[in-house]
Amino acid sequence: MLDVLITVDVEIWCGGWTDIDARFPDAFRRYIHGPTAGGDYGLPYQLKVLSDHGLKGVFFVEPLFAARFGPQPLAEIVGMIEAAGHEVQLHLHTEWVDEAREPLLSNVAAGKRQHLRYFSLDEQTILIRKGKAMLEQAGATNVNAFRAGSFGFNRDSLHALVANGLPFDSSYNATLMGPDSGVMPGTLMTDPANCDGVTEYPMTVYRDGRGLRHAQLTSCSSAELEGLLWQSLEQGRQAFVLLSHGFEMLNTAKTRSDPVVVQRFRRLSRLLEQRSDCFRTGGFAGRQQTAPGVQHGPLSSPLHRTGMRMLEQAYRRRYG
Ligand SMILES: [Zn+2]
Repeated sequence: MLDVLITVDVEIWCGGWTDIDARFPDAFRRYIHGPTAGGDYGLPYQLKVLSDHGLKGVFFVEPLFAARFGPQPLAEIVGMIEAAGHEVQLHLHTEWVDEAREPLLSNVAAGKRQHLRYFSLDEQTILIRKGKAMLEQAGATNVNAFRAGSFGFNRDSLHALVANGLPFDSSYNATLMGPDSGVMPGTLMTDPANCDGVTEYPMTVYRDGRGLRHAQLTSCSSAELEGLLWQSLEQGRQAFVLLSHGFEMLNTAKTRSDPVVVQRFRRLSRLLEQRSDCFRTGGFAGRQQTAPGVQHGPLSSPLHRTGMRMLEQAYRRRYG
């Protein structure tokens, strides 16, 4: 049995940092609800597809935007996820820190620091504490896991999580800042392992003949994803961590759905439902902090699947 974590990062961007108060309501609609002429394809759609197939998703929700725009929109997001029976966990994009109406940190230098790792341990501890409290005030019932925005964490982040009673992290991405995060230095982390009191669930990564990639709904074809899932199972891996975003069913302009990704998501959901004897979706609630720590290295995807994916992606670019 393979644990499949369908992780969805939920965040809102206003398309720049000027006039954000005027831009926010529209950004919220597009990034969260995703209205199109054919219906809503944002978060409510993802929640419904997962629920219809009896699957459970993990939604890493970014709360710091609420320090600017107030608690109501965040409560709406959290309420939607909780009501659908899925999991709300903490995601932090520190780009919001200097936009807060009441400073989140004292003596903070003006200007943006994009990644959590650019903050001191004390600052990270405060930001995680405040973000978690904001989610809880918004109605989140069981926050016990974290993912840094853009995977920009470091080893201090794990200490900040322990200080806030968060036992799980999923910020390690071997294709981005994982290898120089200070977590398991010298080892490419591909499987869950304990580090400094936190159990890390790294992003699932694979080699495709062209390089190392992470498993993400918008960037892997269906055949590739399915091949990687079966390979993980055969190799006796503990977990498969798939990345998505609340807006991934939409085209870049968020004006209509992306039919290729929608079909991919539906097909994946069908497979996971039909083969629940092999794959178990779920989150971090009730999860034990037991990780064998064995590092299998990246999965691999054969070249013909890379070719099929590139065709699919070219189709999406042309018609997306
Ligand atoms: Zn993010």
